[in-house]
Amino acid sequence: MQDPSVHDRRGASVRLVDVSRHFGDVKAVDNISLEIPAGSFFSLLGPSGCGKTTTLRIVSGFESPDSGSVLIGDEDVTSLDARKRPTAMVFQNYALFPHMTVGENVEYGLKVRKMRTQERRSAVLEALRRVDLEAFVDTPVTSLSGGQQQRTALARAVAIEPEVILFDEPLSNLDVALRMQTRLELKSLQHRLGLTSIYVTHDQEEALALSDQIAVMRLGKVVQVGSPQGLYNEPSTSFVASFLGGSNIVTDPSLVHSLTGRDLEKGKALAVRAEHLRIDARSDLKARVVNRQFLGMITELEVELQGTRFKMRSTDDVGDESTIAVSISDHRFVIHDQ
Ligand code: ATP
Repeated sequence: MQDPSVHDRRGASVRLVDVSRHFGDVKAVDNISLEIPAGSFFSLLGPSGCGKTTTLRIVSGFESPDSGSVLIGDEDVTSLDARKRPTAMVFQNYALFPHMTVGENVEYGLKVRKMRTQERRSAVLEALRRVDLEAFVDTPVTSLSGGQQQRTALARAVAIEPEVILFDEPLSNLDVALRMQTRLELKSLQHRLGLTSIYVTHDQEEALALSDQIAVMRLGKVVQVGSPQGLYNEPSTSFVASFLGGSNIVTDPSLVHSLTGRDLEKGKALAVRAEHLRIDARSDLKARVVNRQFLGMITELEVELQGTRFKMRSTDDVGDESTIAVSISDHRFVIHDQ
C-alpha cells in the first residue's frame, strides 16, 4: 500500500462508562467501562458470545445501551444516530453490494453521508489508492479475490474519513496465508492513518499481533486490559492465562506444592505455560506421556502428572519413553475463575 502521509490524521479517543446491554435474561454487555486512547489499536478478545460484537455495535450506534454512556473525543454520543458518528465499520462478510463496481461500493457511504457528487469521485480514488486498488475502481466487486474484497471494505470505511474504525472479525473469511498478509497491511495502514481502531476477534494470535492494547472479555464483562506482552506474561486470572497463551491451570494443592514448593492460597490457581514445563532428569516429578506430536522445531506433548493433564512444548529431544521427569521453569499464581 502507498504512503498517504499528506492526508494523515489522528483518531479520537473512545470511552465507555458503565455500559450494559441485556437481551432478555442474557447480559450481553454487563457494566463495561473502557478507555481507548486516540490513535491506538485496541482489540476486544474473547470466546464466542462474550459480548464483543454488541460492545462494538454500541460504539457504532447500531445498538443502544440500556444504561451507561459512550464518548468519542469529548462528545457524548450515546444518543447520537449511527450515521452522525465519526465511526466506520468493517464487517466480517465485508457487506459489499454485489451488483456494484468497486468504486460504487466505496462511493455508497459518501452518498449516504451526503457528500457532493463532484467531491465523491476524488474521495473514492483517494480511498482506493490507500489500499492499492485504484486500478480496480470500475471493476465489478464480485470479480475481485477475497483479499481484494476485504480491502474494498476497508477503503469504504476509510473514505468517509472517520475518526474511529470498528472491525468485526474482518479477516476470518480469508485463508491462513492471506490472513497473515492482510493482517500486516492492516497494521501498517492503521499506523499511517493514525485512526483509532477497535478490533473484535476471538483469535488470540491476531489480537497479540495487531494490538496496542487488548481487553479480554468473558460473559459480558471485561476481565483484564493490557498490552499484548503484559497480558501474556502477567495474566490476572486463570481464564486469561488459558485463553491467551494456553497455560495449564493447576488447582490441586499438593501438585502445586510439588511443582513450586509453595502452598496454594484459597481462590488461586497455578498457571504454567506449555513451554515452561520441561524435561529435567534431576527432578523427582514423574509424568506419564499421554500423547506426543513431533512438529519439527518442537515436540508437543500431553502428559499426566499426579492426575492432572498438562500440555507441554519442548525443543529438546523427548525420546519415546512413556514416563519422563519434569520440572517447571516459570509460573504465575492467578485468581481462579473457572
Ligand atoms: P461471536 O464471536 O459469536 O459473535 P460475541 O462475543 O461477539 O460472539 P455477541 O454477539 O455480542 O458476542 O453476543 C453476546 C450475547 O448476546 C450472546 O449470548 C448472544 O446470543 C446475545 N445476543 C446478541 N445479540 C442479540 C440479539 N439481537 N438478540 C438476542 N440476543 C442477542
